[in-house]
Amino acid sequence: MTDTLKQKIKQISHELSIHQTALDNVSAYIFMKDREGRYTYANKMVRELFDSSLEEIIGQDDSAFFSLDDSDEITVNDTYVMVNGVTIEKEERNVIMETGEVRYYWTIKKPLFDENNKVIGLNGISTDITEQKQMQINLKDNEQQLKTIINHVDAYIYMKDREGKFLFINDKTADLFGVKACEVKGKTTKQLLPPELADNFDILDHKILASEEKVEGEEVFSNELGTDKYYWSTKIPVKNEKGKLVSFVGFSTEITQIVEQRKEFKAQASTDELTGIANRRHFMSEAYTKQVSAIQSGSSMSVMIIDLDYFKQVNDSFGHHVGDTVLKEIACELTKNVRSNDLVARMGGEEFAVLLPCTSLHKAKLVAEKLRLKITSLVIPEKKDLSLTASIGVASCELHPEGVGTAMIKADEALYRAKRNGRNQVAI
Ligand code: GH3
Ligand code: MG
Ligand code: MG
Repeated sequence: MTDTLKQKIKQISHELSIHQTALDNVSAYIFMKDREGRYTYANKMVRELFDSSLEEIIGQDDSAFFSLDDSDEITVNDTYVMVNGVTIEKEERNVIMETGEVRYYWTIKKPLFDENNKVIGLNGISTDITEQKQMQINLKDNEQQLKTIINHVDAYIYMKDREGKFLFINDKTADLFGVKACEVKGKTTKQLLPPELADNFDILDHKILASEEKVEGEEVFSNELGTDKYYWSTKIPVKNEKGKLVSFVGFSTEITQIVEQRKEFKAQASTDELTGIANRRHFMSEAYTKQVSAIQSGSSMSVMIIDLDYFKQVNDSFGHHVGDTVLKEIACELTKNVRSNDLVARMGGEEFAVLLPCTSLHKAKLVAEKLRLKITSLVIPEKKDLSLTASIGVASCELHPEGVGTAMIKADEALYRAKRNGRNQVAI
């Protein structure tokens, strides 16, 4: 061997060792294989993965290192590159034989050609993406779990951006709106619902967008049949790192049954059970409310108390049942013969009261006379021969907050005067 050849070989092996050192320090798996899939080169990372030296790896194919039953993508991809002579970039899932561990790689495989352009093998570079892949899988799993919960929980869940445009609605909300959940993104309530319904839903939305704080409240949804459904809604702001609201999540649960019960209780609490008209409690509360408006508008207001004469005798002669019927007929007759904004109430026993807003004492007395006559000419269907009379006390309310209370006492005093003076009459 000549000195120059020796020099040349020394230089080439030096260059080779530089290249190898470089490849060993790349944070990727770099390898070369011949046409039969046998390794001709493996960098440090591959050697560490296989826990073998370069000498032990060279000449072996992947069956020595991977469980190929579970990692068939390796063979499929290698064959594809060598048969077609093309470069591929793909994700590979490999199962390490020693440990059974599953790892994911992003792999670029390039064919190697000889001087006649014949494929003689391939070189490959793979980066381990197991962590990212695992995160992706976990994220997908979590998303799936969350989706299942959101779509099966008995609540309407939705998300809107700052402009009030929907970002998301769950299946239950989609059913309520009569749309598909995937169709609502970017749409406002007005684009999905009739204006009057949308306006109702937008009240709380405006509130959270203005305050950027959690809001709660009742919302109403009327369907095409005109039946109202009530919801209790909580809307929670989603803020960015600067603390600015970027969107909000809404949770609404139906409370129609509770609202109806509440209405029923309220109605019961203000209604006289026997006659169905207002009771004393409702009468007094309305009287005080109307008194305030009367003071504000400077208008007069009057009250009257009506007590049936000798009603005990009606019960004694015809029975309690007939007495009850009489009370119902009287309630009906009184209501029929006053204005719609007057209020007739049963104060207890056989005593009724009428509240007459915007009515002077003089006019109230005329109404009382009319009602007294109506009672005397009332015919009870069950007992046509039963004749009734009533005594009525009338008073007008003073223009101060306690006016109603004082007027009721005065009307009561007038009533007893009417009784003392022989009954079946009106006293003021
Ligand atoms: P007066 O002319 O002095 O008012 O005589 P009165 O008999 O009407 O008066 P009193 O207060 O002595 O009797 C009222 C009667 O009303 C007593 C009771 O039998 C009857 N009463 C009270 N509540 C009811 C009721 O819910 N149903 C019936 N059927 N009767 C009732
Ligand atoms: Mg009586
Ligand atoms: Mg009485």
